[in-house]
Amino acid sequence: MNNENSFPLGKMSEGQKGFFELNDFVRNNIKSLKPYSSARDEFKGSDSNLIFLDANENPFENGVNRYPDPQQIKLKSLLSEIKGVSVKNILLGNGSDEVLDLIFRAFCEPNKDNIIILPPTYGMYKVLANINAVEIIKVQLGKNFQPQVQQILTASNGNSKLLFLCSPNNPTGNSFNKGKVETLINNFKGIVVIDEAYIDFSKEESWLCRLNEFSNLIVTQTLSKAYGMAGIRLGICYASTEIIKVLNTIKPPYNINELTQQRALDQLTISNIINSQVNSILKEREILIKNLKSIDFINTVHPTDANFVLVKVDDANKRYNQLIKKGIVVRNRTNQPLCKNCLRITVGTEEENRKLTKALKDMQGF
Ligand SMILES: *Cc1c(COP(=O)(O)O)cnc(C)c1O
Repeated sequence: MNNENSFPLGKMSEGQKGFFELNDFVRNNIKSLKPYSSARDEFKGSDSNLIFLDANENPFENGVNRYPDPQQIKLKSLLSEIKGVSVKNILLGNGSDEVLDLIFRAFCEPNKDNIIILPPTYGMYKVLANINAVEIIKVQLGKNFQPQVQQILTASNGNSKLLFLCSPNNPTGNSFNKGKVETLINNFKGIVVIDEAYIDFSKEESWLCRLNEFSNLIVTQTLSKAYGMAGIRLGICYASTEIIKVLNTIKPPYNINELTQQRALDQLTISNIINSQVNSILKEREILIKNLKSIDFINTVHPTDANFVLVKVDDANKRYNQLIKKGIVVRNRTNQPLCKNCLRITVGTEEENRKLTKALKDMQGF
């Protein structure tokens, strides 16, 4: 029992199909819902000779006078090509935050169900659980910030609907061990949400290529980090056709606005620029790590698979304030579990990282 790798793997292929019946997980009021049918849903035609008098729009063209495509077909098709996932397995949200909120609303009965999170982790899971009146069961990360598989499975019960695995994890930066994640997907009797906001900075492979193997798996990604589009708010949800269908029935009809769809299409077609930016950030990350290790009041530089580094300093509040005085803002995570005296530092441009390193050097001895 003390070796969590020895957890019995159950019968994998049949096992996971056997226990997971999606309909058992959809809230009753949602099961009977029909998606709101908007004007743009009821008539789909892109013939430019058509006269559209069905949505009470202003007829004078200015680029945004029409409602946006509620199914975002162009954008999903492009993402489908880039990610190798079928369009029917993709749902888009106004940031991952909306995607996550839709998942709560579809599967968690307020004041009855619970979710499992593994602190220290992304703060939004807790915020969304609280907004939706869903209980939170916390199972702290263990050694090397890895999930404690046995404890997680023991802590879950018949009302545990969602298990959030953030990998690479924010704020710790590490990826979760593949075997542990697989054991959790196969044995958690609910839906496992893997938040891959930082996957493009990781040497680990995305779980996307294994989506078809697991009917209880949701993978979320975002354009906010590696793709450099935090400002347009675009989150992506990948899951089985059945799960996507449920989420589609409850999403607001026009949740992705026209400007966001256009800009995402533009940026994604110049993916070579994004690749070179990611490579530059990865190169800078290594230089930054080396420099951080040379600072005498930094006790630990945690390994990272993301575009940030978690460091343990002598006194996080003091160092945080000293950096602010020097015009540099980092994230003080000292109040998070397992993060006493830790600062989370985003990898910036070469110049920004150089200024940070100089500021830290100048703070030594003070
Ligand atoms: C930044 C981040 C996101 C991104 O959220 P958006 O709403 O898409 O900007 C999602 N998950 C984690 C863990 C993050 O750190």
